[in-house]
Amino acid sequence: MTRPRDSQRSKVYAAEEALRTDITEDDALWIADKITHSRWWAKRVNATLAKSPVMFVDFNTCGARTASQVRGGTRTIYLPFKARSSVTQLSVYHALAHLIVTDDNIAWHGPEFCRLELEMVRRFYSSSVESNLRTEFRKRGVKTRTMSEEAKDAARERWYVQKEKTLQSDLERLLKDLGE
Ligand SMILES: [Zn+2]
Repeated sequence: MTRPRDSQRSKVYAAEEALRTDITEDDALWIADKITHSRWWAKRVNATLAKSPVMFVDFNTCGARTASQVRGGTRTIYLPFKARSSVTQLSVYHALAHLIVTDDNIAWHGPEFCRLELEMVRRFYSSSVESNLRTEFRKRGVKTRTMSEEAKDAARERWYVQKEKTLQSDLERLLKDLGE
């Protein structure tokens, strides 16, 4: 299987930009340190990455470039921000999420990535920012669930709607059966 087209990238960037908070490099490193020293992180990355220190590097891309470090077995986690004029809080979560979501069969900024970013923001930043980011995603049609997950939810929804319709008669039949 090949990696699907990365159709959500610019929408994800725009959603993060709408909630932009500029921070210093020191702050960004502090946040990244906190996340990468957590048990949550250690459970999701390989042993090498779990012990790698974080530093800034002089490039400005994410996705392929960020994740390629993982395969290279690096002993340093690079935050690709130096080329930008400023660093934003959400971009730290974004970059670190790329180091966890490395499956070849999913898009760089697909539903799995977005859901993980939301989880990290809720866990290490704040639940109100997570809720705002979710809203910004929704406004732009950014998907946080895969197509099969959406299909499952829709099927469940249909089942409940159907159940609701027949609940009354089901209950009446049950009571009648009990009475007999
Ligand atoms: Zn990215």
